[in-house]
Amino acid sequence: MKEQTTGKVTLVGAGPGDVGLLTQKGMQAIKEAEVLVYDALLSLELLALCPKEAEWINVGKRSNCHLVPQEEINEILLEKAKEGKNVVRLKGGDPFVFGRGGEELELLAKEGVPFEIVPGITSSIAVAAYNGIPVTHRDYTSSFHVVTGHKKKNGKLDINFKALADMEATLVFLMGVAALETICNRLMEAGMDPDTPAAILEKGTTCRQRRAVATVSTLKAEADKQEIKSPAVIVVGKVCSLERDFSWIEKKPLFGKQILLTRPKVRASEFAEKLRKLGAQVIELPSIDTVPVLAGEREDLKGTFEKEIAAFLEEKGAVCAAFTSPQGVSHFFAQLRELKVDMRKILATPGLSFAAIGTGTKKELEKYNIFADYVPERYYARELGKLLAEKLTSDTTVYLFRAMQGSPELTEELKKAKLSYKDVAIYETVYKSNPMLTEKLETAFAQEDIDYVTFTSASTVKGFAETLKNFDFTKVCAVCIGEQTAKEAEKYGMKIEIAKEPSIASMIELLCEKAGRNLGWN
Ligand code: SAH
Repeated sequence: MKEQTTGKVTLVGAGPGDVGLLTQKGMQAIKEAEVLVYDALLSLELLALCPKEAEWINVGKRSNCHLVPQEEINEILLEKAKEGKNVVRLKGGDPFVFGRGGEELELLAKEGVPFEIVPGITSSIAVAAYNGIPVTHRDYTSSFHVVTGHKKKNGKLDINFKALADMEATLVFLMGVAALETICNRLMEAGMDPDTPAAILEKGTTCRQRRAVATVSTLKAEADKQEIKSPAVIVVGKVCSLERDFSWIEKKPLFGKQILLTRPKVRASEFAEKLRKLGAQVIELPSIDTVPVLAGEREDLKGTFEKEIAAFLEEKGAVCAAFTSPQGVSHFFAQLRELKVDMRKILATPGLSFAAIGTGTKKELEKYNIFADYVPERYYARELGKLLAEKLTSDTTVYLFRAMQGSPELTEELKKAKLSYKDVAIYETVYKSNPMLTEKLETAFAQEDIDYVTFTSASTVKGFAETLKNFDFTKVCAVCIGEQTAKEAEKYGMKIEIAKEPSIASMIELLCEKAGRNLGWN
């Protein structure tokens, strides 16, 4: 038996909101976490990237909606580390900038539990930057100060306003929304010019970022008018006037949009990155996964792949290997590797040709130095069937290497053309979800905080519906890759948008169109 050793606690600063602002080291620590202790404020975008196999402990909220007291959080960290676990304590911004990171370390240090700290990008600087406000600028200020606006138990602010007002510096107040009026008044009483520029910046670096910019004397009224709420950063100082020239993120085509992607992980990342580049906030929540048949547990599929490959290698006539998804290609080669089938044997098959349903699949084949002979112009199963029927000679056997229960439209066309074929299941599609995110997702949809959900196949729709059982799907605006997918989404009553072409590029175009902007931006 493995001897139980003490685990470790890593305090990770998650940054202010935009997941792109999480450090590489932070992401690495998250990936390796066995226990994840996190706050309520963290975004779905970030939480969706955390390993669902880990034990998730939400200390931002308990069922009765109260915060878990600090002492209890400290105890949880200690206890889990003592169980030998690799614990990640995930906190917004930087753990040591009003993050109580120090308090969490005290008990660990006393008990001799190893810990590490991964600093994060603090909201005090980044939220200002995302609003076009540099916290320092040579022409305006020579220092900046980060101050807590949190009132003490006696309702007082423990701040030397005189000192702050005298410095002519940039002042950044965190946790100051409730005390906004007091902060502005006390600064003016301490001698600050009432016309000093000031700003309040809500949900900075996220797709819901908003701001009110005014002066110290008018900021409270302006914030009320715009109904600015927590979390927000208050910035006071001449640099706030630069926002007029420097604001930038709102200019991106997909700014203000939160989009949920349901594609399997391997395929989703590129899609997500493109959308993020265009300014969207993206929740990567794969609703399906693919499991190769060799690793699967289905009795009826045991040994089938081996048998079909053996038959493939025995074929005397021409053979066409057809693939209908990139996963099909990667699972095909991975399983050949596992069975130790030498590529030379495969390539020795007489008259061997390769077919791909679309560009994604074609590109995946190219990773194995195979340049597909047949790719239909429109990426539909039926179109692939038609193309093969037209191009292949009657002595050819088509091997369809695809998911179990692939579309019958393809085989119908082959049958019509009297081509012989073998439908070889090489992977199965399984539905997967992270139950820890269900509640947060439901709340987000109810508050209309998720603008679009993208679906790239009917199975992603089914998987998504499994994740949110008993949910009112009429709140969901589904952006679908094609008709089949849309049909499935309609069954649940979702609002439907269909891409002009069945491709990711076309889906992105549609999203930009819906956002009322075009791709001319770069
Ligand atoms: N450790 C954090 C701050 C924790 S205190 C950091 O370094 O950023 C919590 C306060 O941070 C909030 O009340 C708010 O003032 C500020 N804050 C955090 N994230 C924010 C965001 N995305 N937009 C605006 N303010 C934010």
